[in-house]
Amino acid sequence: MKRIACVFLYGAIAITCSSQDLQDILSKGKWIDLTYNFSTETVYWPSVTNTFHLDTVFNGTTAGGYFYSAYSYSAPEHGGTHLDAPVHFAKGKNAADEIPLEQLTGNAVVVDVTAKVISNKDYLISIQDVEAWETKHGKIPDGSIVLFKTGFGKYYPDAASYLGTAEKGQPGIAKLHFPGIDPALAEWLVKNRKIKAVGLDTASVDYGQSKDFKTHQILYAANIIGFENVANLDKLPETGAYIIALPMKIKGGSGAPLRIIAWIK
Ligand SMILES: [Zn+2]
Repeated sequence: MKRIACVFLYGAIAITCSSQDLQDILSKGKWIDLTYNFSTETVYWPSVTNTFHLDTVFNGTTAGGYFYSAYSYSAPEHGGTHLDAPVHFAKGKNAADEIPLEQLTGNAVVVDVTAKVISNKDYLISIQDVEAWETKHGKIPDGSIVLFKTGFGKYYPDAASYLGTAEKGQPGIAKLHFPGIDPALAEWLVKNRKIKAVGLDTASVDYGQSKDFKTHQILYAANIIGFENVANLDKLPETGAYIIALPMKIKGGSGAPLRIIAWIK
């Protein structure tokens, strides 16, 4: 039997086991889908006009008497639950198809800032928020995927509350109000921790009122990847979840629709 390392589920405990052992471990927990479906309701940036579109190629009974359905779709890379590849804001960094699988999988750290966001829709997730998590759970382990729970997921897909506005175009962009990651925290994470990815339950790693997308710039220049519009973060524990995040493998893509799931005990 093929031997594979189980180390990824047990952090620092370096043991090896068979794929059967891995299946046994996985069967003791459950999978949580962190992905919104793609439909006409999928949330996009106000400036996006070509939102998700599904065309029916065929749906019905064929001349041969059997049922058949097929569709073609079109969608921007960035919208709904999706990946930001580093090249989205950092020239020469990894595109969607170049991100190592090891970076798309790993242990999750969930930082809950829901209480802070209630009184401030424009909240910037701070270094202090991560330090508070570390006081409780210890230093963020190397290779973690850091997920920020703002509580905004409960508004999805209602743009008026989720984005702060349902208005489209430039007027809509000016009215975006939702929390994001403080550039100072992005800088701190790059300098002081070895993380693979960040993710959150809002439309952008920068807050709605950002004009320069500094957090995008800082994280992606360091080849860290981003997951945006992540669903069901309220179902994850603060530690112990394992993430598998597989984007569409668009050659040279700056991002891609993403299927992201978590395993929890
Ligand atoms: Zn994006």
